[in-house]
Amino acid sequence: MIQSANLGFPRIGAARDLKKALEAYWRQEISPKDLISTGKTLRAHHWQLQQSKGVDVIPCGDFSFYDQILDMTATLGAVPARFGHTGGHVSLDTYFAMARGSKSAPAMEMTKWFDTNYHYIVPEFTADQRFSLSSTRLVDEYKEALAQGIHTRPVIIGPVTYLTLGKSKDAALGDPLDLLDRILPVYADLLQSLVDAGADWVQIDEPVLALAETDKQRQAFEQAYARLGKCGLKILLATYFEGLGDNTALASRLPVHGLHIDLVRAPDQLPACLSVISKDKLLSLGLVDGRNIWRTDLDKALAVLAKAAAFDGRALQVAPSCSLIHSPVDLENETKLDPELKSWLAFATQKLEEVSLLTRAANHGRDHVASAFDDSAAAAESRRTSARIHNPLVDDRMQNTLPSDFRRASKYETRRAAQRAALDLPLYPTTTIGSFPQTKEVRQARAAFKRGDLTAKAYDAFLEAETREAVRRQEALGLDVLVHGEFERNDMVEYFGEQLAGFAFTKSGWVQSYGSRYVKPPIIYGDVSRPEPMTVKWSAYAQSLTQKPMKGMLTGPVTILQWSFVRDDQPRSETCEQIALAIRDEVTDLEAAGIRLIQIDEPALREGLPLRKADHAGYLEWAVNCFRLASSSVADTTQIHTHMCYSEFNDIIADVASLDADVISIETSRSDMELLAAFEEFAYPNEIGPGVYDIHSPRTPDKAEMTALLRKATERLAPDQIWVNPDCGLKTRSWAEVTPALENMVAAARDARSA
Ligand code: GLN
Ligand code: ZN
Repeated sequence: MIQSANLGFPRIGAARDLKKALEAYWRQEISPKDLISTGKTLRAHHWQLQQSKGVDVIPCGDFSFYDQILDMTATLGAVPARFGHTGGHVSLDTYFAMARGSKSAPAMEMTKWFDTNYHYIVPEFTADQRFSLSSTRLVDEYKEALAQGIHTRPVIIGPVTYLTLGKSKDAALGDPLDLLDRILPVYADLLQSLVDAGADWVQIDEPVLALAETDKQRQAFEQAYARLGKCGLKILLATYFEGLGDNTALASRLPVHGLHIDLVRAPDQLPACLSVISKDKLLSLGLVDGRNIWRTDLDKALAVLAKAAAFDGRALQVAPSCSLIHSPVDLENETKLDPELKSWLAFATQKLEEVSLLTRAANHGRDHVASAFDDSAAAAESRRTSARIHNPLVDDRMQNTLPSDFRRASKYETRRAAQRAALDLPLYPTTTIGSFPQTKEVRQARAAFKRGDLTAKAYDAFLEAETREAVRRQEALGLDVLVHGEFERNDMVEYFGEQLAGFAFTKSGWVQSYGSRYVKPPIIYGDVSRPEPMTVKWSAYAQSLTQKPMKGMLTGPVTILQWSFVRDDQPRSETCEQIALAIRDEVTDLEAAGIRLIQIDEPALREGLPLRKADHAGYLEWAVNCFRLASSSVADTTQIHTHMCYSEFNDIIADVASLDADVISIETSRSDMELLAAFEEFAYPNEIGPGVYDIHSPRTPDKAEMTALLRKATERLAPDQIWVNPDCGLKTRSWAEVTPALENMVAAARDARSA
């Protein structure tokens, strides 16, 4: 019999219960006992829900108060010394101190979990690193579920992935993988504790197994599982986000009882997995997309499953492609989505139903669940043909783009001369990245407008007043290039998504980004187009208030794509190109309205890089082309800016250069301009605004500090190449912080000019 299985369920709760409890706990409004009890209630509910959906193999240990990697750090007792942990059980407060920092110790670093928008807490290692079993969390949760009558499959992060994702904080430790010998006994202890509690299987997540590139990593897998394979538990090794590829034979050799493979991301790996992976290993087939919100085409998935079942009669499980923490919780909460669109979607709860339906159909025949399959087929058919998705005008435009649409009319040197004549800016021109403080008043007015307590007219008048005030302040500060302030925007993607055709928004489609922070990505369901100008009114209004040039402010196509749920019925590159055409229309209209500088933000360009290096070039080619398509309609005299919130450009500097933006602003203040080296070495030709002011910190940088940073920039770049600006937008700061900081920044630029 084929079994249905789940790899992990969202822990946040359908009503963001966990967020509320955590934040109340951090504000000391509820006790540790209250928080722990919220966790317990959520877990009980999630186990019961999975059981009621017919899932045979239900995970435990997938719950987390903050992050599953941090949980592993606590379990292994790998608490960095600065948190003062002296051994034994890691307390809740030490756990949160690692995540969020404490009075005496800065938080551990956080970074993106593979190519998702989930962020994990990066383990830190030293050469004298010790590990010891320091938590009973996993066994406790296993027993908790058992008390509820549910025999779960505990899940943990595997040792090779855990070490690979960590960072050495010590010159004496070159590679965290060198700690494998030391970490394995603790993993063995942990598994033994599960055996003692009565567990029979464990799911060990090793996404790095699919990505392993070096012999050292491959040997680490052999060594780790030679040891853990003897622990008396059956191990399901879970890979996801990539196919096993060259590591298929390695996976087959490992002494584990089963492998999970991601057949959504890498459907082509199935034949090789079936023939190479020894038949005594169970295969868990990730057939339901855990990363996106689309309903599964059940007949298509069943055909794949049937092929696997007919192949060699090995044990099979049906599962989501990865943990469901990357999906929103429950579509049933979406009472406002239109029924047709809703019929195309599945959130975590619905995905479990799909897993269970597929399993039943495979075991008992499609007829057994015919009506659910027929519904799924009807939804798939309506998605294929619906006029809401397919817009012939967009298709036509896509077919008819010309090579010349992807490049500016003249080469950079020509544009540069034209822009210098037209804009007449001083040396070291000063500007900001776009947003000004989103004060309580701004947020309250927006909320009141959304609730219907403020009329559109009154809201508009309010926004105009805010914009006016921002322009007045910028003139008083003496900035050279002004911005309107982005007061009308909630979020840099949602604002555009709400005005573009092909986008939809959910009421509670939250997914965890990190800790208690969740995001609600828009859904791109259909061909994208721009029915009306989106920002022209605000930019033109702001320009009408001043003689200084006003910079238009747009979000770029790659970033809009990257921060949305994207359709799966066409390549990402095509969706991105459609968005690029929509942004191009906006750029054209801004120019026509007299805006002479237009910034197109692409903070997510780097984030889109595929997991395998071999795939980078293909991605960068279309991503760069999309930016160029969005930005190339304008005259030589119109200056295109872009902004990226980081400055690690070493490996992509050539691609960043081929964006051919006239000016790029980046985040450099905290790296002391070191990261400009990539631009220097490349002899980057266009203009650059290296951030001289760290906007993440509430402290006001003084003039001397910014002068020193500017001087460092001139060591790497030509003076007439440099702009002066903060690292990023100022929306999270207050005017009391922003005003003196910008005064100092303008003064530093003036000093530099006269030096
Ligand atoms: N223009 C945006 C702002 O200033 C850019 C934000 C970002 O780069 N994330 O807020
Ligand atoms: Zn930024």
